[in-house]
Amino acid sequence: MNASSLALDAAHLIDRLDRLARSGEATGDLNPAQWEALRFIARANRFSRTPAALAEYLGSTRGTVSQTLIALEQKGQITRQPSARDRRSVMLALTAVGERSLKDDPILALAADLAGADPEKLCIVAETLRRALQAMITRNGGRAFGACYACRHFSKGGSARWPHHCLLLDEPLSEADSRAICVEQEPALPTL
Ligand code: SF4
Repeated sequence: MNASSLALDAAHLIDRLDRLARSGEATGDLNPAQWEALRFIARANRFSRTPAALAEYLGSTRGTVSQTLIALEQKGQITRQPSARDRRSVMLALTAVGERSLKDDPILALAADLAGADPEKLCIVAETLRRALQAMITRNGGRAFGACYACRHFSKGGSARWPHHCLLLDEPLSEADSRAICVEQEPALPTL
């Protein structure tokens, strides 16, 4: 099989996996959009847990995202509070109920299936998918939303509590922050 046939095969596999994973999301109390919002809030850093960043991450409208967030708040999964950094903005946070929901996230079944693979091969697959995602984002004019540690503004060095620093926002970063995704992230290395 040549490279373009393999690439098309891989694209079909990704499409099928996505559909099957989403069909599992429709069976519980949360719909697919609500699962996506919960995942984003769990993975995003404190500069990014806003309705606007969520809308951008999902490639959705603010109105649609607002309906999703209202439903999640009514179900006790999240809170929406005025931001301490900017009182005009809203900060999203998971409640204990939301955190418990994510322990039963349907995407974990897919992750468990992938976990059986050889770690080196899995690393190559993840990097290949990351580059494909970056290419699609570049084509569509969106933001990367990559991990903080891979950002060109990320700087190592600081205190034990805040071992890293954001040079763009001039804010201290914890170890957990370094692994979170960020609306301002700009990849440190050229990808593709
Ligand atoms: S270093 Fe980059 S990813 Fe991390 S907080 Fe700053 S802008 Fe966001």
